[in-house]
This record gives sequence, C-alpha cells and structure tokens, in this order.
Amino acid sequence: MARTIEVGSSVTIRQLADQLDVSANQLVAELFKNGIVATINESVDFDTVSILINELGLDVDVKLLAESPPAVSEKAPARTNPKLQERPPVVAVMGHVDHGKTTLIDKICQTTNLEKESGGITQHISAHQAEHKGRSITFLDTPGHETFAAIRQHGAILTDVIVIVVAADEGVGPQTVEVIRFAKATEAKIIVAANKIDKPEANIERLKTQLAEHELLVEDRGGQIVCLPLSAKEGTGLNDLLDMILLTADTEELKADFSGLANGRVIDAYSRKGLGLVALVLIEEGVLRVGSYVTVGSTYGRVRTMNSVVGPSISQATPSTPVLISGLKELPDFGDSLRAAADEKSARKLASQKQSVQEAKVSGMTNRELLRIIDRRNQIDEVNLIIKADVKGSLTAITDSICAFDNNEVASRIVGTGVGDVSEKDVWLAKTSGAVIHCFNLAVPLDIQRLAQSQGVEVKSHSVIYELLDDVKQALEALLPPEIIRIDLGKLKVQGVFKSTRSSLICGGQLTGGKLTLPAQADLIRSGDKIATTEVASLKKGDSEAGEIVKGELCGIGLATKTKINAQIGDTIEFYRQDSRPRQLETPSK
Ligand code: GDP
Repeated sequence: MARTIEVGSSVTIRQLADQLDVSANQLVAELFKNGIVATINESVDFDTVSILINELGLDVDVKLLAESPPAVSEKAPARTNPKLQERPPVVAVMGHVDHGKTTLIDKICQTTNLEKESGGITQHISAHQAEHKGRSITFLDTPGHETFAAIRQHGAILTDVIVIVVAADEGVGPQTVEVIRFAKATEAKIIVAANKIDKPEANIERLKTQLAEHELLVEDRGGQIVCLPLSAKEGTGLNDLLDMILLTADTEELKADFSGLANGRVIDAYSRKGLGLVALVLIEEGVLRVGSYVTVGSTYGRVRTMNSVVGPSISQATPSTPVLISGLKELPDFGDSLRAAADEKSARKLASQKQSVQEAKVSGMTNRELLRIIDRRNQIDEVNLIIKADVKGSLTAITDSICAFDNNEVASRIVGTGVGDVSEKDVWLAKTSGAVIHCFNLAVPLDIQRLAQSQGVEVKSHSVIYELLDDVKQALEALLPPEIIRIDLGKLKVQGVFKSTRSSLICGGQLTGGKLTLPAQADLIRSGDKIATTEVASLKKGDSEAGEIVKGELCGIGLATKTKINAQIGDTIEFYRQDSRPRQLETPSK
C-alpha cells in the first residue's frame, strides 16, 4: 500500500529526501536530469515534489500540509473596529479595447492619458482620482488588450467597483466576455457603462440582451446590475455614473483604519530620471507619510518624496489614495504589499525575511516549469528570449503572455528578464544562450547596439505589447512543422488496364470529376479500400501526351509504382496533390 507523506508549499531537498527515505543526491540527480541544478539546501514546491515522486516511481502519496493561518497583524481589520472611517471607493475600469475606457477616465478625471499611450492602448495600470459632490473616487485604468490578463487580475483585487465599459454600438466583444467572467469571480460590485450612445448605431436593448446571454442581468431584465447609458466623448451620463459609484460605496460601507501604520499595494514600479526608483502604491490602511520607513515586497526604504497622481507633492496619504513614492532601495514587484515600519531596522528585517521566502520560492521549481523541462526531453523546439521592459507591470504581462503560447511542440524559454535598459550582461547572456533580446518601451543605448551587432545578437525594440507578442509568436510558429494538406484533383473509373509491371501501371478511363494536372499522386481504391498509393507519371489523351484532363474526358494514365499493382476494371483512382501550409499557434484562451 502506498505510504503517505505531508509536505508544506515548499520543502528543502534534504527534508524531502528524509521523508521519502531516499538519498538527497538521488533527488538532486533526478532534478539535474531534468535540467534543474539544485543543491540539497534549496527548496522545491509541492507540485515539483509530486512530479519527482512520479519520476522516481516511488509508491508514495503526497499531501499538502495545511498552512498556518496568517499572523494577527496580517489580518484585515474587523468591520466593527471603532477606528474605522469612511474611505473613497476604488474603481477599476475594464472592457474591450477601443470601447472607451481611457476616454471615460480622461473625461472624469480631466487627464489626457490617451495621448501618452502607445498605439492608443493603455500599457500598464495607471491610477487617477476624481472629485464628485465633494467626495473622492479612485480610478484604476486597466489595460485593454486581452494579453494583459495578468495585470488585470492583480488590478481587480484592489477594487470595490468594476465598471465594465461596453460600446453600445458594437455590443459585447470578446474581451468584454472575459472581463464579465473575471468581474463575477471577484467580490467587487459591477456597473455596466453603455458607452458611445451618441452614435446612431448605439443599441442599448441589444446590449442588455447580450449581457443577459453572459449571465449579467440588468435591473429592468429582472437582475441587479445597473447599466448606465453614457457618452464618454460628449460627457453625457457621467454624473449618473459617479452618483452610482458613490451610492454603491455607501451601501458597501467602505471603511478603513486611518490610525495605524500604513499598508498598501504596489500598482506599478519603474525608474524615473531625477527621482530614481518610483513605486505607484495604493494605500489600503493607515496613513503613509514622507519620511516613513517602509517594507515593500522584499525591499525597503524611507519615503523620500510622495506625489499624488495628479502631480503635486504631498506629505501624507490616507486609505484608497494612489501615490507615487520614491526612496526604495530596489524596484519592488507589481502587486507587492507595502507596510510602514516603526524604524529602519524593522523595515530592513521584514524585507530580508520576505527576501528569504522569495528565494525559496524562486529556487522551488513550479509544476509548470518542471513539466516544460521534462517535455523538452521529448524534443520540443524552443525559442530563447531575454525580455526587458520599462516597468514591472508590463514585464509580468509580457512574460505571462509569452508562456501561454507554449504547446507540446514549441515553447519559449525566457533566459533572462529585467526592468530597465538592455545591459552588456544581457547581450553576453543572449550570445551564450542563443537568445533574442526583446525590449519594451526602452531605448537601446548606442554602445549596446554596437556590442549586440558585433556579437550577432538580435535586439528588438517594441512600443506596443501585442506587437512584441506577435513577434515571439511568429518565431515560435516558424518552428512548427508545416501542415500537410490534400487537394483533391479528380477521380477516374478504370475502364481498361493496359500494362502492369513492378514499376509502372498504365490504365485508362473517364475522369468523373475535377481537373487533373501534374504533379499528382493517386490512390487506387477497390470497394472502398485503398489498395495502393502511387505517383502519376504521365497523362495521355488518345496517343498524345496531355497537360491536363478535365471532367468527362477519356484518358490514359501512367502511374509510377513501387511494386506490381493488380489493377482491375471498375477500380477507382483518386488523384490529389499534397501541399504544405505554415501552421499558426492557437491563441490561448484566458
Ligand atoms: P479604450 O481602448 O477602451 O481605452 O478606448 P479609448 O478611450 O481609447 O476610445 C477608443 C475610441 O473610441 C477613441 O477614438 C475615442 O475617441 C472613441 N470614443 C470613446 N468614447 C466615445 C463615445 O462616447 N462616443 C464616441 N462616438 N466615440 C467614443
């Protein structure tokens, strides 16, 4: 009977070896066979443990040990906490590309994001604030293209309300469906903004029907979802939308503790000239002040400058406020939590604890990675890549989307990633690993361009994410073996067999359909069964060679055979040509 062991979400190879009763070296060797170089003190995750047990053929069941509950300080405050105060709602605006998200936010928040975007598509999350009836509302503009699912997921965790923007002239689009599915899976309240009602083709009733088809029932169809007609371009209906957002906030009693040390979450992070590393953080609890020590993910620092998203520098930020802070030692990750600390020592200590947890996670191969590596032994063709981007959010979106292209024939192997300019190190890594460097929203310094050229390394620059993804996709598609397609050319009923040797068969008959030209292949069929496959060597009409035979014509056919074929009157010959067609990767569904 199989023995059962219990492991946590990550376990060192040494501990695992003890539990499995095998030598640690055996585990290290198994990982090595799969292309993973690990020492016995490094950790693997639960999925990898399962795969290792399987690969080693051990009769052991593995169970995931229940994680201990988070420390009290990690818990969200109870709603009954007397220190809770009302906070502004955080609203994510989502929808199909071009349905008007950016225009809507620009109009409401009086910003001009549209011009800053590349290809008219929001490239990473941005945060804005609006005032309505003396109250603040925070908006998160989430990227519109479907390949941004990664960012969108993180973005919506922070949100109270999701406004789904749908152009009333076009109706529900593929990304709308994706957003509906996603929004319904969160706890956020949903409001549908039926945009572009100024257009003559706008049709709200059709839109409501489409929404119902996706199980989003609006109020006048017996549901609870509010659907507001508006025109972001002309500014009509915007007050109703803002009223509805505030009403939703009131019914949800959105509150936060303003009294303690600040907690927040990183929405974006990048390096900015003059300021150094900058993080866009949404404050969730407490008050963040300039001069506060903070731990952000596995880095820390002291808030040197703090700016509101509207521009001016501010000295403190309260819950639901997005702020840009500088002063961090390293660039945090998108989605990292921010925690203010009493002093530098505690900030540094927490950061280093998080760093060790992260390192354990990094060395712990995930199920997917391991499977990919194991699969690679089965001759998967790969494209090696190095990805560099201006901000973490885009980098995450790009790498997530690239991995989603993998299938069991081709895969991309991302040998390096990073935020910021392409460096010499990247070029050398690309050279040794045969990788192409793709950079997003970055200028490639001239000396690096020269170095890359001299080393034969390809550096590709992009300013629109889906163009970068298309480029990678094409490189993967080029590795796919072509699809062989059969083009039927016609059929002939054999009316006479004139000669049959080991290497040829000459017969005649009438073409019953199609048009026969050379080159062609032929299958000899008798009573529905294929008897032989041959090449057509010659076509004759009467005594003379023919270039083509059309339907209804009598002809003689010379076939090149490999063995003697015993053709008979009444057999059918099916003619066809084989062509190869480049294959395309299927776009993964999110
Ligand atoms: P996003 O991709 O969802 O952010 O969409 P944009 O805000 O970039 O808008 C896409 C296009 O639709 C732009 O050309 C806008 O000017 C246009 N647009 C946005 N809202 C409206 C509207 O209410 N009426 C009309 N007629 N056009 C709009």
